[in-house]
Amino acid sequence: MKPSLERPLRSRRNRPGRREFLKKATALLGAAAGTFWADETLDAAVQNVNRNSAPSQLKITDLRVAVVAGAPFTCPIIRIDTNQGIYGLGEVRDGASKTYALMLKSRILGMNPCNIEQIFRKIRQFGGHGRMAGGVVAIEEACWDLAGKVYGVPIYQMLGGKYRDQLRCYCDTPDSPDPKVFGERMKQRKEMGFTWFKMDIGINRFRNVPGAVSGTVQGMPIERGREHTISGVEITHKGAELMAEYIMKVREVVGWDVPISVDHVGTMGENSIIRLAKAMEKCNLAWLEDVIPWYQTEQLKRITDTVDVPICTGEDIYLMDEFEKLCRNHVVDVIHPDLSTSGGILETKRIGDMAMRYGIPMAMHMAGSPVCAMANAHCAAATQNFLVMENHSVDIPWWDDLVTGPPKPLMQKGHMRVPEGPGLGIELNEEVVKQHLMMGESYFAPTPEWDRERSADQLYS
Ligand SMILES: [Mg+2]
Repeated sequence: MKPSLERPLRSRRNRPGRREFLKKATALLGAAAGTFWADETLDAAVQNVNRNSAPSQLKITDLRVAVVAGAPFTCPIIRIDTNQGIYGLGEVRDGASKTYALMLKSRILGMNPCNIEQIFRKIRQFGGHGRMAGGVVAIEEACWDLAGKVYGVPIYQMLGGKYRDQLRCYCDTPDSPDPKVFGERMKQRKEMGFTWFKMDIGINRFRNVPGAVSGTVQGMPIERGREHTISGVEITHKGAELMAEYIMKVREVVGWDVPISVDHVGTMGENSIIRLAKAMEKCNLAWLEDVIPWYQTEQLKRITDTVDVPICTGEDIYLMDEFEKLCRNHVVDVIHPDLSTSGGILETKRIGDMAMRYGIPMAMHMAGSPVCAMANAHCAAATQNFLVMENHSVDIPWWDDLVTGPPKPLMQKGHMRVPEGPGLGIELNEEVVKQHLMMGESYFAPTPEWDRERSADQLYS
């Protein structure tokens, strides 16, 4: 926390008054108990009161960005400055443009960041599914960080307290054409203490095996970015069996005692997904992820109802409503919001609480820096049906060093401890962040060009 340079006059003026009040109250209590409290005792009693700020006078004065690259993804970290010398941190979702946050600066200047919900509702209309939510969420996180700092409590405490002190994390593992090599890599993660794994295995790997895939141009990679159900690509029984056998060989190395989730199976239609999932039933998977677009809810429900592999989706969904449609109709077995898309710390807790009513657990997609990870940690700590959180950065040696505050390593035996410091519970390590800025980016340079961005923002007329 930066030292308070602009302590408001009212805060200074109030302090003797509060002291007088406490003295009187103490004297009364002391008299009632027949005891006398010395001035030293009174000083000790109030020494933990946070004098860094006057929350009711706090105002947002600036929003700046430092874009970190290679963490392993691109992470635009934002800093919201205030009139009281303290700041809050947030992060735009991995791979999204910093502009999503900067375009909101003019909308929040002068507002009190402790009014988190008021700010969120004002800027919510500028978010959307996928990366479009990045700016709204980054600001929401930074406001929580500020509110925690001025009131002197960790974010999870403001959400109602915690269900757990540490979060179980699943790790991604670099793949290989050889399932034994893949299995050995995963086994190394297991020896590090991880207890849940995720593997990406797609039909692209088998596109040149005769009779495995249909609808593709032989020898060409399957087109990315095309919606699954209109791609014209289908997997055959042979292809489905080949993919399942690959996972079984990984299982032989890593064992049957750990959950494995599978993602990025490829672009194909509903019937192919059912064929593939049925072949994978013997692999005892924790979940099969994002098999078709999340908004194709009728097709997704037929898949979920037909196969004995848990179906999971959610990393591209913005706000509660779409999650509720999935949960109310049991379209999926597991929801998987990315807090940086789903609407931030409070909205994601509410999404978890909603899913809980339908008996559905909440896993969390996460591919950011430790700023993003800690925002997730506070939300996950305070959400009962939290299952497991993603960690993409096991192989990035400087990832932990981007921040100071919590004990290192941040990830121990496959779990991340929930920070106990105020707000997010972290500070940026300026030196390390500067070493990993994206080319052409600077460390929280001024952004006056965004001070007067305006439009007619109303949603109704
Ligand atoms: Mg995914």
